[in-house]
Amino acid sequence: MSKAHVAIIGGGCAGLSAAATLTERGYAVTLFEASPHLGGRARTVLVENNSLMYVLDNGQHILLGAYRETLDLLNKAGVDEAEAFLRLPLKINLHSVSSTPDFLLKSESLLPAPLNLLFGLFGCEGLSFSERAAAIKLMAQLKMNGYQIATDTALEAFLTSKNQNAKLIEVLWEPLCLAALNTPIAVASTRIFLNVLRDSFTGSKKNSDFLIPKLDLSKIIANPLSQYIQAKGGTIKLDSRVRKLKMENDGQYTVTTGDEHLAFSHVIIATPPSRLNNLLTAFPKLQNTLVVTESFGYQPIFTIYLQYPADIKLPNIMTGFTKNISQWAFDKGQLCGQKGLVAVVVSASGVHQQLSHEELALKVANELHQVFPHLPKPLWNKVIAEKRATFSCVPNLARPSNKTVQPNLFLAGDYTYADYPSTIEGAIRSGIACANLIN
Ligand SMILES: Cc1cc2nc3c(=O)[nH]c(=O)nc-3n(C[C@H](O)[C@H](O)[C@H](O)COP(=O)(O)OP(=O)(O)OC[C@H]3O[C@@H](n4cnc5c(N)ncnc54)[C@H](O)[C@@H]3O)c2cc1C
Repeated sequence: MSKAHVAIIGGGCAGLSAAATLTERGYAVTLFEASPHLGGRARTVLVENNSLMYVLDNGQHILLGAYRETLDLLNKAGVDEAEAFLRLPLKINLHSVSSTPDFLLKSESLLPAPLNLLFGLFGCEGLSFSERAAAIKLMAQLKMNGYQIATDTALEAFLTSKNQNAKLIEVLWEPLCLAALNTPIAVASTRIFLNVLRDSFTGSKKNSDFLIPKLDLSKIIANPLSQYIQAKGGTIKLDSRVRKLKMENDGQYTVTTGDEHLAFSHVIIATPPSRLNNLLTAFPKLQNTLVVTESFGYQPIFTIYLQYPADIKLPNIMTGFTKNISQWAFDKGQLCGQKGLVAVVVSASGVHQQLSHEELALKVANELHQVFPHLPKPLWNKVIAEKRATFSCVPNLARPSNKTVQPNLFLAGDYTYADYPSTIEGAIRSGIACANLIN
């Protein structure tokens, strides 16, 4: 058993995965979370409407079958994948104004990757023969080159240079880019997008599956991981914002919350990059890290919850939209038994940010009504706007590493996992990587 005592600052996916990995190896761990709940940007919120309380997630999350480390960690923490997620083979059905999709792509479930996608593209609806051929050619080229490019560029420019016309970009590449990188395609990083494609279309065909939560996120991430960490001897302190971090002459770190000053041998800072400032002021050697993170841009994600009468259903659990503000709609009744509830996701920056929440909810409800005329007026709505949902995943973004020049001080968080965009998997992998640096 090691004598190390590790402080973890931040109880999002990164902090939780670091804490779970270290406690299972016998390390003493104390995790500090500023808010009253764990989960960070992947959390559940309670919303009141007409004196009734509703359990909603701060945003509709989707995982990919390729999120190996997340699925392994949740499995260790006792999460039953089949109970927690609906696994759907890759399918994109995009509607603009009618219930007949403008574009329909289904991966071919009997074939191995990437043939499942190539054959899916071959048979997809809504593209001409030459458009399908151009998409298949590009996928084949990408596979041949190991999904690598010499120089990172903006994805839209890259795709245009590969003969992907405006229609292909609109119905195929842009929805995938927004879902994976939450960054407008005109400025999104091609390299990071290709990393996600590589992991989804290499190896098992299940890697490209969508995993959509059937339970609220606290039951899938925060609660099981916190129980796992505590069962293995870890301590979790909620409502404990770390205000100061200092290294003493003996090499120990003092972590200061409101009224406590506690000593630790190692520290993992697992806050979002925008919260590093206060914690790094005492470390002149880390000011370069702050210069890097302060140059980050951020992208919002809006989730518009529309409550319809309980008997109302959408034809599909997940419906995509094109030429609308709405991007994806999820039928929470069919997914998690929240009957009549629809969650509409609008990723990345756009014109919707100029609308008030009420205007946005009305606009989105009208768009849904146009595609699905059976939908009545919603009974109520709730818009959750996460203004800094993810960092902007732009080309050549400098990302700090987990190891810092300060001894025994590490950085975890989605922004440190340089291979990936801002995702649960990036956050979980970064936490594990930090834990692996402690011995
Ligand atoms: C609406 C929305 C939708 C998303 N959709 C998806 C999706 O579909 N798929 C996907 O993979 N990813 C998605 N993401 C991204 C994903 O949620 C994040 O990448 C991931 O949760 C980040 O985890 P993290 O641990 O790096 O950071 P965070 O979750 O931000 O955790 C950091 C924690 O640190 C705490 N903290 C900050 N300062 C202090 C301090 N001084 N002391 C103590 N604690 C502190 C914060 O309270 C927070 O709990 C989405 C994000 C949002 C917001």
